[in-house]
Amino acid sequence: MNSEQNNKIKKLLLISENSRISSEMGTLLNDRYSFIFSDSIEAGIQQLEQNYSNISAILLDSMLAAKKGKEFMARVKEEPRFMFIPIILVASGIPMNEEIECLSQGAVDIIVPPFHKKLTEQRIENAIRLKDSASFYEIERMLMALPSNIYLKDADCKYVFATRDWYHIEHDNDPAWTIRGKTDVDIRKDTENALAAMEADKEIIRTGKGTSYVIKVGADDEAEYFEVIKEPVKDKNDRVCGIVGLLNNVTEHERLRRRLKTAADTDGLTGLLNRRKIQSRIRKGLAVMKEKGGTRCLIMLDIDDFKQVNDTYGHNTGDMVLKGLAGILMDDELIGTEDFCAGRWGGEEFMLLLKNSDLAEAKNIAERIRIAFSSMDLGNIPSQTISLGVTQANPDDTVDSLCSRVDKALYKAKKSGKNTVIELK
Ligand code: GH3
Ligand code: MG
Ligand code: MG
Repeated sequence: MNSEQNNKIKKLLLISENSRISSEMGTLLNDRYSFIFSDSIEAGIQQLEQNYSNISAILLDSMLAAKKGKEFMARVKEEPRFMFIPIILVASGIPMNEEIECLSQGAVDIIVPPFHKKLTEQRIENAIRLKDSASFYEIERMLMALPSNIYLKDADCKYVFATRDWYHIEHDNDPAWTIRGKTDVDIRKDTENALAAMEADKEIIRTGKGTSYVIKVGADDEAEYFEVIKEPVKDKNDRVCGIVGLLNNVTEHERLRRRLKTAADTDGLTGLLNRRKIQSRIRKGLAVMKEKGGTRCLIMLDIDDFKQVNDTYGHNTGDMVLKGLAGILMDDELIGTEDFCAGRWGGEEFMLLLKNSDLAEAKNIAERIRIAFSSMDLGNIPSQTISLGVTQANPDDTVDSLCSRVDKALYKAKKSGKNTVIELK
């Protein structure tokens, strides 16, 4: 045999105190494998440390395994460098119970005499092949180490397997409990999400198309967010036979995203919506009204002679007045409905979008805001006033036509002496 062939031959580590086993195996398999012999567990471990990358399988004397091999087998099973190297036990006679028990401690097979060359080779090859493709146990262990839950569901959207206990899953501590055959609604505390998950699953089974979305679990201040990615599993005939899913905890990322989104939509000084956002709400409001009916009204307001406030008391005082007015525009009790949103339109101009109020109600709301502001205690400076324009959207309105009408109403209020509400149809 030349050296090139020699390099290609698989290497086995044979650990045995019994020289008869070593020589018998060596002779039997000599033409197929090259051997590293160790006569003790310790020496075997040393060999493994040095040669783990080119040892294909370990042949371990089953008597030695039963006496001193427990730790060794546990180590091979758990240690990432060794876990894909199969341990095959070699018995020197009919194996005793202690030797057979080693099969549950990490060994994959036991070979007993009389040793048959072809059979032994085949069993070694099978063991190597199974390990090369990683056993379910090893894959599960690797998946468990990820901060994710990976699961498989059948065509009825029932779980077959999940990598970890998720704390939202509800079950008693019965050791026989299994997720197999359970639906999301059976096991999850977050029932609403569970129902939505089942709907999404049915859709995947129906269409054969995967999906992904983010769910929120728990109450607002301690909510957690999970990214769900689901793909169909197809059989040989391309029929959907299940769903594979990946669940990632994206709480940190999602909280940051939401904070940035809120910041992008908010006016820094007052905390109200900014102009871009209130415009977009008006646009959406009009679209919904046109599709589903209902009413939309706009109130536009502007502080009277605000320049004088700044000039007389300084810009900081002006800012304080703006925040005071914003406080009124956030007060749903004073406004008398929760169906509204308020934004800062520009400098000292604000816009209020009302849902489900007609023009008469909108006018009343505007009047309440006017009175509330003019009677607001502004500390060191005298009370101030605002002028307000009010209008109701009609089906032909665009954002521009609606805003320009309410702006006209406000202009009229200014023209007619300020501190007043003017409506325009
Ligand atoms: P009118 O009654 O006609 O509305 O008169 P006005 O003085 O309120 O209107 P004008 O448009 O002449 O002045 C608005 C002022 O608002 C000018 C500007 O300095 C001030 N302003 C705009 N934004 C801010 C802000 O963020 N903080 C402060 N303190 N003042 C602001
Ligand atoms: Mg003004
Ligand atoms: Mg103005």
